[in-house]
Amino acid sequence: MRWSSGWRDDLNLIDISIRGQLLYNEPMSRHTSLRVGGAADLYAEPEDADDLLMLVRALKDRQVPWLAIGRGYNLLVRDGGIRGAVISMARFNRISEAGERLIRAGAGAENLALVRFAQERGLGGIGFISGIPGTVGGAVKMNAGAYGSGVLERLESLTLLRGETVAEYPREEIRYGYRNVALPTGAIVLAALFRLVPCDPQQTEKEIREDSELRRSKHNVGFPSAGSFFKNPSGQAAWRLIDQAGLRGAAVGGAQVSEVHSNFLINRGGATAADFLELARRVREAVFNVSGVTLEEEVRIVGEEP
Ligand SMILES: Cc1cc2nc3c(=O)[nH]c(=O)nc-3n(C[C@H](O)[C@H](O)[C@H](O)COP(=O)(O)OP(=O)(O)OC[C@H]3O[C@@H](n4cnc5c(N)ncnc54)[C@H](O)[C@@H]3O)c2cc1C
Repeated sequence: MRWSSGWRDDLNLIDISIRGQLLYNEPMSRHTSLRVGGAADLYAEPEDADDLLMLVRALKDRQVPWLAIGRGYNLLVRDGGIRGAVISMARFNRISEAGERLIRAGAGAENLALVRFAQERGLGGIGFISGIPGTVGGAVKMNAGAYGSGVLERLESLTLLRGETVAEYPREEIRYGYRNVALPTGAIVLAALFRLVPCDPQQTEKEIREDSELRRSKHNVGFPSAGSFFKNPSGQAAWRLIDQAGLRGAAVGGAQVSEVHSNFLINRGGATAADFLELARRVREAVFNVSGVTLEEEVRIVGEEP
C-alpha cells in the first residue's frame, strides 16, 4: 500500500530501491533504546558501501535529508518523527585484521564484538568499551567511553563517506572531546581502524567481567533508557547534581529520573518523547537553580515536534 504523507509524496521516496531493507513511515520507537519517537519517512538498512552510495545519491537527487544511526542507544527522537531518511549502518558489521596490531571494524559492528575479536588475537587496550551498548559508528561519533577513557584514543583513522566520496581520515585530522566528535558535515562513518596493544586474553576477560559486574550493580535500572542522559560537567558528576536538586525519582508522564541512577532517565511504560523533553527541562532548571550549573544533554535529540 502506498502511504500518503503530504509533501513527502512529492519526494518520490517510494521510487528508491536498494539491495538492503527499506521501510516507509517506520516508527523510531522500534529503533531506539528509549522506545519513544515518531516515524521516519524512510528507514533504510543498506547492504554495503555500494548500496549506501546508491541510496545517498537517490536521496541527494530528491533533496531528502538523512541521518545515519547505529543501534539508537543514544538517540531521543521527537514524537513528530523524522522528515527524510534514517540510514541504519547495522549491516556494516565486518571486523578484520588490517596489519600489525591494527583492526578494522565496520560502523555497524557491536563494541563487544570488536573487543572479543581483538582478544582472540592477543590484542587489547579497548576493553573499556565492552559494556557500552551500540556500534562502532555510534561509539566513534560519540567518543563513547568509560573510566576516563574515550574510544578515539585508540583510533588510527576513520573511513568516511562524504558527499559521494569515500576517504580515509587520520585521527589527527579529527577534532574530538568528551562525548563529542566533530565529523565533517554530512559525513557517515563506514569503518574505523584501531591501533591496539598486546594484551593477555585473560586480562581482557577480566576487564569484560569487571565492567559487566559494575554495570549490573550500578546501571541496572530495569527500564528502557539511553544510559547517562546528561554529560558530566567538568569535574562534577551529573547524577550528584541531580540528586542535590532533589530530582531522583521525579517523573513526567511515563518518563522518570531513575531511582537507581539519577542520570538515567527511564521509560516506565507509555512515555512519549515529549515526556522526556519536559522531564529533562525540569532537571536542567532545578540543577541550575540549586548549583548554578547548566547541564548539557549527552543523548542526541533529533526529529520534529508533532
Ligand atoms: C544502559 C546504557 C549504558 C550506556 N553506557 C555508556 C557508557 O558507559 N559510555 C558511553 O559513552 N555511552 C554509554 N551509553 C550510550 C550509548 O551506548 C553510546 O552513546 C553508544 O556509542 C551509542 O551507539 P549507537 O550505535 O547506538 O549509536 P546511535 O545512538 O544510533 O547514534 C548516536 C549518534 O551517533 C551518530 N551515528 C551513529 N552511527 C553513525 C555513523 N555510522 N556515521 C555517522 N554518525 C553516526 C548518530 O547520528 C547519533 O548522533 C549507554 C547507553 C545505555 C542504554
